Amino acid sequence: MNTSNTDQIHTPIFDIAIVGAGLAGSLCAHLLSQSGQTVCIIDKSRGSGGRASSKRLEDDTSCDLGTPYIVAKHSDTLALFKQLTEEHVTAPWKQLSKAGSQAFVGVPKMSAITRHWVQNANFITSTRIHHFNQITTQGDDQPSWLLRDDKYQPVVIAKKVIIAAPASQAASILASHEKLAVLLLRANQASASYQSQWAMWLETEPCDLNALIEPKGSLIKRMIKDNYKPMRHSEKVDRWVIQTEPNWTAQHLDSDKEWITQTLLQAFAEITEHRVLKHGEPHRWFLSRFTENKGNHCFAWSFEHNVGLAGDWLCQGDAEGALLSAMSLINHIKDIN
Ligand SMILES: Cc1cc2nc3c(=O)[nH]c(=O)nc-3n(C[C@H](O)[C@H](O)[C@H](O)COP(=O)(O)OP(=O)(O)OC[C@H]3O[C@@H](n4cnc5c(N)ncnc54)[C@H](O)[C@@H]3O)c2cc1C
Repeated sequence: MNTSNTDQIHTPIFDIAIVGAGLAGSLCAHLLSQSGQTVCIIDKSRGSGGRASSKRLEDDTSCDLGTPYIVAKHSDTLALFKQLTEEHVTAPWKQLSKAGSQAFVGVPKMSAITRHWVQNANFITSTRIHHFNQITTQGDDQPSWLLRDDKYQPVVIAKKVIIAAPASQAASILASHEKLAVLLLRANQASASYQSQWAMWLETEPCDLNALIEPKGSLIKRMIKDNYKPMRHSEKVDRWVIQTEPNWTAQHLDSDKEWITQTLLQAFAEITEHRVLKHGEPHRWFLSRFTENKGNHCFAWSFEHNVGLAGDWLCQGDAEGALLSAMSLINHIKDIN
């Protein structure tokens, strides 16, 4: 494909561009901004967070429809959350913490974490990156990357690019340039290892059931009392988020949303014997959890092409892994500079 001069003249230029503002991409943006580089982060959604985002509700409250908490076990993530907690961005959820691992939540909602990290970067929302072109900018001997959206419009030019999207979404971007074949292979191999889940919020009268319930033999995998998280207490109602069991979800991925809603309400009522006062629409997470957990390289970086990959699927397959992946990649980039 040709890249016209007009594309280059009108496109903003950064040292580094990050695709994806979930936990991994946002932390990359934060760490790189601190090192004085010009950073741009782009997400297809309206805000940051990805699978650690929050849903805004009518009455100016919100709930976490993705990961309900982040469990930190590693010394690097524990140090990161110590700092975030001092800055009032997170709080430990003591009821869910165990010896050797601590659970943390965003304050006042999960998306506060990524919002905090993207604040010093240029954040472009509602833009799906679809295509990479390599270009040579004036006065530079090394080529840069021109990132284009799904309408083939230029978005940004950057010397280095990090793709912090789930494996299948990373793969579809990497497939746009033949030089990225090695990274593409890695992303393609990981693409099949995801589970899907439905998640829905609902409200009941306040009750004394536990903050986290994992029913056995039910289509519901977990029920979390969102208002029991630190700094969210509500006297008036209990607000729950329920998540479906992955095998059941696989069979009902394309079912009618109204049927999903009624089925979830019935299952909830059978487990808790509580009347639901209000509920939201079920949200379908096609890629909720990465299930393969054998990778020993926490990130990928092509030194030759200045393109890297970060995300949970490269490390542990969970929220803490997304953070460890970002930290490892940024340490690596700093070392080679
Ligand atoms: C229902 C649910 C429950 C979970 N429970 C837990 C749990 O209990 N414990 C745990 O540790 N983890 C849990 N997880 C998983 C955890 O949320 C993820 O591991 C973590 O959030 C992944 O972060 P990430 O940055 O790697 O990816 P993501 O959060 O997926 O971020 C990727 C971002 O990239 C953006 N993007 C993708 N493609 C493009 C593109 N082409 N252009 C622009 N932007 C793009 C997406 O919009 C997204 O914002 C759960 C997830 C879900 C959905």
